[in-house]
Amino acid sequence: MSPTPNASPEDLTLVIGAGLAGLTCAFELAEKGKPVLVLEAAPYVGGRTANWDENGMEVESGFHKFIGYYTLLPELLERAGIKLNDMLFWEKSMEARHPEAGEPGVFGLDVVRAPLKTLLGALGNNSYLTPADKASLIPFFTAGFKDYLSNPEELDEIPVKEYAERYNVTEQALERILQPLSSGIFFLPPEQYSSYAFFGLFAPGIPRLHKMRIGAFSGGMTDVMCKPLADAIERLGGRVRTSTPVRSLIVENGSVVGVELENLVRISAARVVVATNIRRSQKLLTEHFQDVSWFAPFFELDAMPHVTAQFEMPQPLLPKDRTTFGPGTQLGSFGEQSRTTFRDQGGRTSIILVNPDELIDLPEEEVWQRTVDSLKEIGLDGVETTTQYRIIRGNENFYRLAAGNEKKRPKQVTPIPGLFLAGDYTKQPFFATMEGAVISGQRAARGILKE
Ligand SMILES: Cc1cc2nc3c(=O)[nH]c(=O)nc-3n(C[C@H](O)[C@H](O)[C@H](O)COP(=O)(O)OP(=O)(O)OC[C@H]3O[C@@H](n4cnc5c(N)ncnc54)[C@H](O)[C@@H]3O)c2cc1C
Repeated sequence: MSPTPNASPEDLTLVIGAGLAGLTCAFELAEKGKPVLVLEAAPYVGGRTANWDENGMEVESGFHKFIGYYTLLPELLERAGIKLNDMLFWEKSMEARHPEAGEPGVFGLDVVRAPLKTLLGALGNNSYLTPADKASLIPFFTAGFKDYLSNPEELDEIPVKEYAERYNVTEQALERILQPLSSGIFFLPPEQYSSYAFFGLFAPGIPRLHKMRIGAFSGGMTDVMCKPLADAIERLGGRVRTSTPVRSLIVENGSVVGVELENLVRISAARVVVATNIRRSQKLLTEHFQDVSWFAPFFELDAMPHVTAQFEMPQPLLPKDRTTFGPGTQLGSFGEQSRTTFRDQGGRTSIILVNPDELIDLPEEEVWQRTVDSLKEIGLDGVETTTQYRIIRGNENFYRLAAGNEKKRPKQVTPIPGLFLAGDYTKQPFFATMEGAVISGQRAARGILKE
């Protein structure tokens, strides 16, 4: 195999995985004129930010939103020639639907053009949350953001529910606001979800309130973001190979010197960036570095599954394409996408389901039935007209954002010569997000360029 033109193993970097972390790392190296070859197991690039055809239906790995306060992801895309405004539709509001609330809570997002309305609506209308519920959240958020800055290690040891109890948040505010903002985003129930991850995800938005908007993708994420990024890497002289799963690392005299593919082809290189999801990374690394103490906390870092339901209907399920939460049901965050991401269908919805540990091994029909029941509970009976659905799930992609796990995330530069890590699970401040994956890829590239 000829990896990249004029590349000799002496200066070649191999990147395992073409998710956002791997693509970012490769782009940064290629832009600096470094030879780089990305090896991706799937037939398409994008990893968790991918779309593909699943037995005749176009699906994505899950419902994704681009948060307006991300800085490094948009800056990277711009350098790669990808225009943000072509890639995204900006949403003006979000909503939360609870089975027992009289009407949905609607949250304005247009801080620049409608600041007063946005701030007043920040906690939803009064029939969704009483003034007493809203008031109970103020000490919780004030203390949380303070602890995030001054006491992060301790904050990470406390689950969101316990922290809420400490500050006397009402039951209703916990279920209708804190549950969507935790489980609705990273699936885990508030009894498990780390308070550090909870406040940390929103903290970067505070100094950038004017950027607090949310973008829906204007097409599948491989099509509008990851493939164009891979093309930019190739224009810069790098190479991206799909359908090329890596089986193991090649280690000689304590240094990583290449990889062996599943088809037993071996590729030599100066260094390897493991940019796979967490479980794959642990598997590749334990084979050689089980006894290296630097990796010990990382090998104890648990993964968590994710489960999504995606379906098509003759007409839209919801009147607007906007982020919706379903607290008190099996629905985390979801949205109608037929006017934004998947426009060739009359109706098209994508849902992230909560408590994935309970769902990951259930038969597809049962997961679907629970989804339908939950949608009906919040008045979305139109789901009965579904023409086809897919349950898309995985159990090795996410590090578990549970209390006590922050300290187990590894840095990108390892003590092993020739070995770097990238991926949202590695240590960076944006948790398991696209921005976090980009930061990890950039840190790995910086480590390589410094060598
Ligand atoms: C349902 C869902 C909803 C999400 N919502 C949001 C959101 O709204 N906003 C947001 O910012 N983020 C969101 N995310 C998170 C975001 O997608 C991830 O943080 C980010 O994509 C992780 O990128 P990564 O490169 O670290 O990992 P991945 O994307 O997992 O990439 C790893 C790559 O490695 C490849 N690989 C694995 N093993 C091998 C091997 N042996 N050989 C070769 N290749 C291999 C995989 O195929 C994959 O392509 C969501 C994720 C999911 C699943």
